[in-house]
Amino acid sequence: MAVPRNLDHAAIVAHYKETQGMGATAFHFGCSRATVLHALRKFGVPRTGKPGGVRKPKKPKPPKPPKPTLEEKFWPLVQKSDDPDGCWLWQGGVDNSKKGGYGYISFDGRRLKAHQAAWELTHGPIPEGQQVLHNCDVRYPPGDRTNRRCVRPDHLFLGTHADNIRDKVQKGRQESRAAGWRTLSPARIEHLARHFNISPAELLALIDSPT
Ligand SMILES: [Zn+2]
Repeated sequence: MAVPRNLDHAAIVAHYKETQGMGATAFHFGCSRATVLHALRKFGVPRTGKPGGVRKPKKPKPPKPPKPTLEEKFWPLVQKSDDPDGCWLWQGGVDNSKKGGYGYISFDGRRLKAHQAAWELTHGPIPEGQQVLHNCDVRYPPGDRTNRRCVRPDHLFLGTHADNIRDKVQKGRQESRAAGWRTLSPARIEHLARHFNISPAELLALIDSPT
């Protein structure tokens, strides 16, 4: 149906007020509902669709349930060990990239490493320049990264990046000794240097520096 031009908006509004019907008014004038709306807006008539012209008061929305805290989200994803010294392994997401193996948790738009979150939940924020390290990697065979998923607070300690390197080298030496080697092999030094993104010379300097 062609929409007649030069519609009498006052007449549309009067009809709408009488019938309180968008559809009925639009049909009566052979115009679109958008035209009726336009007329109502132009004359400041609230659109109600109901006789009496009173807007229904909006129902108050039920309050949203509060978001779970990091603590509430975190601990259900931890599998505690029956062994009194056993590792508590993270059951949530795990970063499986080459340098990964660590559990992670997303919270408040941040992606946190699970063992760091465990530290923060237990001891508070991690001091600037410090890293959360594991002391339980000695229980795993060399190359097994399972311990990176461990979030047991008393398996964690704070250290600097250099401490972390010395710690790894120390453990590497223990592994080498256990394997019957007298010292760290050049290949192992290469590997560790690559792991920490430094040169083998820098790594050796760090190992020899006093702790
Ligand atoms: Zn552990």
